[in-house]
Amino acid sequence: MTPTPLPHALIIGSGVAGPVVAMALQRAGIASTVFERDAEPANLRGSWLNLQANGMDALQAIDAEAGVDALGFPVEAISFVNGGGRSLGRMPMAARRPDGRTSRMLPRADLYTALQNAAADRGTQVVHGKRFVDAQTLADGSVRALFADGTSAVGDLLIGCDGIHSRVRTVIDPQARTPRYVPVLNSGGYIPNFRVDVPAGEFRMQFGTRCFFGWAPTPDGGTVWFSNPPMATEPKRAELSAISDAQWRHRLHDLMDGDAGPAHDIIDAAPDEITAWPTYDLPKVDKWHNHRNMIIIGDAAHATAPSAGQGASMALEDAVVLAQCLRDCPDTTSAFVTFESLRRARVQKIVKHGNRSSNSKAAGPVGRVVRDLMLPVIFRQVAKGDGKSMMWLQGHHIDFGGTVIPAARR
Ligand SMILES: Cc1cc2nc3c(=O)[nH]c(=O)nc-3n(C[C@H](O)[C@H](O)[C@H](O)COP(=O)(O)OP(=O)(O)OC[C@H]3O[C@@H](n4cnc5c(N)ncnc54)[C@H](O)[C@@H]3O)c2cc1C
Repeated sequence: MTPTPLPHALIIGSGVAGPVVAMALQRAGIASTVFERDAEPANLRGSWLNLQANGMDALQAIDAEAGVDALGFPVEAISFVNGGGRSLGRMPMAARRPDGRTSRMLPRADLYTALQNAAADRGTQVVHGKRFVDAQTLADGSVRALFADGTSAVGDLLIGCDGIHSRVRTVIDPQARTPRYVPVLNSGGYIPNFRVDVPAGEFRMQFGTRCFFGWAPTPDGGTVWFSNPPMATEPKRAELSAISDAQWRHRLHDLMDGDAGPAHDIIDAAPDEITAWPTYDLPKVDKWHNHRNMIIIGDAAHATAPSAGQGASMALEDAVVLAQCLRDCPDTTSAFVTFESLRRARVQKIVKHGNRSSNSKAAGPVGRVVRDLMLPVIFRQVAKGDGKSMMWLQGHHIDFGGTVIPAARR
């Protein structure tokens, strides 16, 4: 008797969700191939991210945390000051989980590399230089992915992990919403041999008079920093790339003018060329799947503004939960519907949370007064409960061995 071939998934995008869904699917008995647009890892120089405990938990659920656990450094606490340098409070960066997991700051490029290496070590093929442009459903229900170079690939299902500007999203729903611009930019990086006066394991953030700024000491004697220069209207890509390093430094100095703290020294010491990225979120995508053979996860389905510090963790949770659903549900449609029923409320709540934090960064004069009065109260409450009020966010746990009950049977 010929054995039934394993189902095969086409995964579009090898960022955070892509390699992890490949590893999780492998555990669920589903083979996959990852197709990535970029010929080689994108230039993500200078960009660090905060991977929270729930994201690490998702990796641990499929025994894929080792490579990532070795990256960056843990962040235990977050402290806030206003423009004048007055303390607005200090609180745990993450809820205190029973397993002791906490947040880690790590270079984004290293995270991508670690996840890709982990997937490759488990036999996943990642094909670079494949920009997905379209998909067709074939007569037998399988799906053909079409790439910009004229090639194609056929699989039983297609999973869009292609990020916030997802093409898979518009193939599933040509009317799909486009990302919403959040009116701040992101800039930042790492400075070796540069010390800031902040205790180890703490991230200090400043609600500057005109710009949000953050810095944290790294265990090797350097500093990680970021800033969120406000920009009321969405800049064109060309507009941003036309701003030179010298102009950025001048602009950041100007925005932080009159504020207390090390921001000016940080701007001067930053060794790499300073650039900035626009910020987007994606509050509600109506269709995550086509009820048949195509689905989107991660930023393609629900991007949060970076201030939530949760985008990567959400993508990791999605990847593992989708594999569980495909493993335990009787067919792909049921798996997609069950996945959505398990994920939608949580991720939309997080997107809302991220948008609130971004707006407080760009407060006007009246908003600043209210904020400076309210935040100490809020931070004190969070600190008093040892971060328990954030447990819904960072305390999330996935038991990959547990069986998912299909939505129709619940
Ligand atoms: C400035 C900034 C700071 C952030 N800080 C944090 C943070 O502190 N903590 C946090 O958790 N999150 C943070 N995020 C968000 C986080 O980076 C994302 O949520 C996360 O990367 C989403 O993972 P993903 O796999 O869905 O998408 P991505 O990581 O964006 O991966 C998408 C992949 O798909 C590829 N791709 C795109 N289109 C195609 C196509 N047509 N065909 C083939 N491949 C394609 C891309 O090249 C990319 O490799 C931040 C984001 C930004 C912009």
